[in-house]
Amino acid sequence: MKESIALILYIPVIHRRYVEIIREWASAHELTCLYIVGEEMIKGSGVLTHEIRALDPQTVLDIIVRTGWLSLDHVDILTPQKIPAIRKYCTKIVTAREGLTMGIVGRCFPDMPVEYIDTFLRWDTTRVAATHQPDHHRVSTHPHHVRLMADAKDLGNRSSDWWRRVGAIIVDPATLSPIMSGRNEHMPSEYAPYIAGDPRDVIPAGTSPEISTAIHAEGSAIARAAASGLSTRGTYIFTSTFPCAACARLIVRAGISKVFYHEGHSNLDGDQLMRSANVEIIQVP
Ligand SMILES: [Zn+2]
Repeated sequence: MKESIALILYIPVIHRRYVEIIREWASAHELTCLYIVGEEMIKGSGVLTHEIRALDPQTVLDIIVRTGWLSLDHVDILTPQKIPAIRKYCTKIVTAREGLTMGIVGRCFPDMPVEYIDTFLRWDTTRVAATHQPDHHRVSTHPHHVRLMADAKDLGNRSSDWWRRVGAIIVDPATLSPIMSGRNEHMPSEYAPYIAGDPRDVIPAGTSPEISTAIHAEGSAIARAAASGLSTRGTYIFTSTFPCAACARLIVRAGISKVFYHEGHSNLDGDQLMRSANVEIIQVP
């Protein structure tokens, strides 16, 4: 039996990645139907009310049909009324790894197979942000450390940030069991830089880290621990990217005693800062 796929996308503006996804899935799977998340579903999700650039879903549908990327039989607007039919006739959901559609899929299709794809065009970090390695104290290839770092990287990969995706996990020093985690995310919503623009666009990589609409992974994990009343004193933090100076200050004041990192950072001001507070720095390759 051929797969009947419901491709569910929130498309506020048409950009290159959406065109790629639509073409890719339409040509590879003839039974794919694209469902553009409709106004009613967007309002119900509680986010994006400030998206001033957004086209209305019907206009997006008209553009897609007129360009010939998909025929009218294969595009529809996702409304609450259509959910039972999708559940009945589709064998799989394909959707974007972003908050709005993930929320809808989780609520409306909790028991269906789901494949997630990335929608944002990502900058090439090797070109836009030179990565320097700090003069780390030592390297660890301990299997448990490697596994925790893999988890941190996995967490970071769920960030919708265009150019750096970082995950951080604070662990208990005795058991290495996770206490709290965080990833870099824009605030007040992950769409903030796509609505009003990102101030980082005009700032050279590695400079003025305080100018940002994002909370960093390490800062987020520390703040979440504080909100939950969990002490970070003496804990270790596993972070996929070496901490920036702002996060290094938080790490020092939070009493974290060891930092395990994977990749370097374009700015290593945090290195000296953590060293002077006797925070041990360990690289996990
Ligand atoms: Zn940071």
